[in-house]
Amino acid sequence: MKKTTNKPTLIPKMYCNLFGHDYQVTKKVTYHVKEYTCSQCKKELTTDSNGQLIELTPKFREINDILERIHTSRMERSKNKAVASSVY
Ligand SMILES: [Zn+2]
Repeated sequence: MKKTTNKPTLIPKMYCNLFGHDYQVTKKVTYHVKEYTCSQCKKELTTDSNGQLIELTPKFREINDILERIHTSRMERSKNKAVASSVY
């Protein structure tokens, strides 16, 4: 029996059409907004303000960058507050 470690190479798009996209979370922007990439065809999605999955266009990528910055600075602030309250 021939041993092969390689999976049959399917055209990714065809695979997704047959089995559906295999989305992996690639980035957590905020608690509610995440970015996803399909491990098969590399299609990228994000969560919009209504919680729907939409295609990650350059415009949404920009919005997510801003959201992430706001989210991170909020987290930093609350972390500092926690430290301060544990000291005093
Ligand atoms: Zn896909």
